[in-house]
Amino acid sequence: MSITLDRPEQKPASAVMTAWLRDFEAALSAGDAQEAAGLFVEDCFWRDLIAFTWNIATQEGRGQVAAMLEATLARVTPRNWQLAEPAEEADGVITGWITFETAIARGYGHLRLRDGKGWTLLTTMTELKGHEEKRGKTREPGAAHGVAQDRKSWLERKQAEEAELGISRPPYCLVVGGGQGGLGLGARLKRLGVPTLIIDKHPKPGDQWRSRYKSLCLHDPVWYDHMPYLPFPDHWPVFAPKDKIGDWLEMYAKVMELNCWNSCSCEHAQWDEAAKEWIVDVVREGKRITLRPKQLVLATGMSAIPNMPKYEGMEKFKGEQHHSSKHPGGGEYRGKKCVVIGSNNSAHDICADLWEHGADVTMIQRSSTHIARSDSLMELALGGLYSEAALEAGVTTEKADLIFASLPFRIMHEFQIPVYEEMKKRDSDFYARLEKAGFMLDFGDDGSGLFMKYLRRGSGYYIDVGASALIANGGIKLKSGVDVIAVKEHSVRFSDGTELSADLIVYATGYGSMNGWAAKLISKQVADKVGKCWGLGSNTTKDPGPWEGELRNMWKPTQVEALWFHGGNLHQSRHYSRYLSLQLKARMEGIPTPVYGLAPVHHTS
Ligand SMILES: Cc1cc2nc3c(=O)[nH]c(=O)nc-3n(C[C@H](O)[C@H](O)[C@H](O)COP(=O)(O)OP(=O)(O)OC[C@H]3O[C@@H](n4cnc5c(N)ncnc54)[C@H](O)[C@@H]3O)c2cc1C
Repeated sequence: MSITLDRPEQKPASAVMTAWLRDFEAALSAGDAQEAAGLFVEDCFWRDLIAFTWNIATQEGRGQVAAMLEATLARVTPRNWQLAEPAEEADGVITGWITFETAIARGYGHLRLRDGKGWTLLTTMTELKGHEEKRGKTREPGAAHGVAQDRKSWLERKQAEEAELGISRPPYCLVVGGGQGGLGLGARLKRLGVPTLIIDKHPKPGDQWRSRYKSLCLHDPVWYDHMPYLPFPDHWPVFAPKDKIGDWLEMYAKVMELNCWNSCSCEHAQWDEAAKEWIVDVVREGKRITLRPKQLVLATGMSAIPNMPKYEGMEKFKGEQHHSSKHPGGGEYRGKKCVVIGSNNSAHDICADLWEHGADVTMIQRSSTHIARSDSLMELALGGLYSEAALEAGVTTEKADLIFASLPFRIMHEFQIPVYEEMKKRDSDFYARLEKAGFMLDFGDDGSGLFMKYLRRGSGYYIDVGASALIANGGIKLKSGVDVIAVKEHSVRFSDGTELSADLIVYATGYGSMNGWAAKLISKQVADKVGKCWGLGSNTTKDPGPWEGELRNMWKPTQVEALWFHGGNLHQSRHYSRYLSLQLKARMEGIPTPVYGLAPVHHTS
């Protein structure tokens, strides 16, 4: 019997893209960077996730594309550019999924053609040749049928590995932080055979989520939140409660067979230049241990170094005061006067929770905040990529992640602005009610809304799941356009001369940059050498220029050898852990990884 495989149907769009890929391949094979760059429009973008650059980098314009190719072509020797499925055309842009290979890896990408020329190209490394993850047909048999004396069971082998790794055998990679970021990365490294130890202060995986305030549910919907390899089952709620996420992560660590040391705190790390490894002091269940990994990943969380403001008189306050990260939530503040300083996500969630539990709560808003109603956000902003409808239309989580990744940061706001214009119209009554209550609203410096704020500054917004109605109807009292001047024994004093009595003050004042972890665990010099993490250099509020083109220092090589930063929301951790794990695997295997375009440091925090 012979089977004929259908080739992708050659629609005109596919024919155009196939012809472009052929010309591109010819130019690349000839080593002609200028010719290849000439196939792009002048204002093109080529975003590479480690396939060409061993970096996460976007080349903007033909000049940068040509320069990158000049520097990398001879080593990368890219070839076999193919259309993976039929291309599509809409609004004069032809879009298609592509496959390619390099000397050492296989790649997958996304291409948009405008006027028959390359406009945006995304190239990603999917696997290193000879180091493919075992899956499907290549999965482990599990059982070795037959008979063998002194055979070790799966459990015995697992226990032997646990007894060894970090004790008599150093991990190649140490991941500090076993939240969803550390666990997802750990799962990928496990599949790639990179000996990895994940350590976390908390007693159990998932405790980071469990320790947050009681009312917290994920703000992002389920389709956006899957962990690598193991998606949530299809009855999983749209917005998972935080303790449910905690349980999922605990289960994940177990079934993915991750080597986690919990109740283990990283105290200090320093680089041993002679041995080319880190010396890391940890305390595990009270016992000091020194680890010597070759690679150190800080997956210690973006939302983990509290920004605690300093106000005159704080130390004299007779009530209870804490940062939002320490707020327990629940009924213990019934009847109490509560002042919540801040007006972003945590502030809103905490105010609503206090109101639900019968507290007298006032939110203090110093500057404007972007509010997006959860329903509107899902329908207008996320639904096309992350929803049941998207899945039905064939947009899998993996495809959605890649489509998202294919949009260059430089022009991403242009795609976002119309979404928020629509949101303003659709929810105009809602916004009017909030403004009437005195709430200061914004949609970002350029009207590009929530996701751009998240990327640029990681703050400045609330996804409304109910608290805004309480602000509009006065359930949550609001004091806006004021700053705190001082804290007194039983009250808070403001810049407009007024004063509010308080039994509880919650400082919902956000979190610092992740390189603060390097300062805390390694040294200030190393933190400054790495520079600020996160932000694009968009020259908008809290995201100073110059333009970086990519998020600073995340998931890619930094100015400090063998030091990596991993984190972000569930979507980002899932997607970028793939490229971080491949970077680490390549280094372990001794595959040369020359980095093209290592980002210079412009800001230290
Ligand atoms: C209130 C709130 C709501 C959020 N809602 C969402 C949401 O809806 N969707 C979403 O995607 N994201 C959300 N986030 C962002 C969020 O923080 C994450 O997605 C997630 O927690 C990030 O995971 P992570 O593993 O990067 O960091 P974390 O979960 O912060 O984990 C870091 C881990 O590092 C450990 N650690 C730190 N220092 C050390 C040390 N020295 N030694 C050992 N261990 C250490 C900590 O114990 C912790 O477990 C929210 C954050 C907050 C604060």
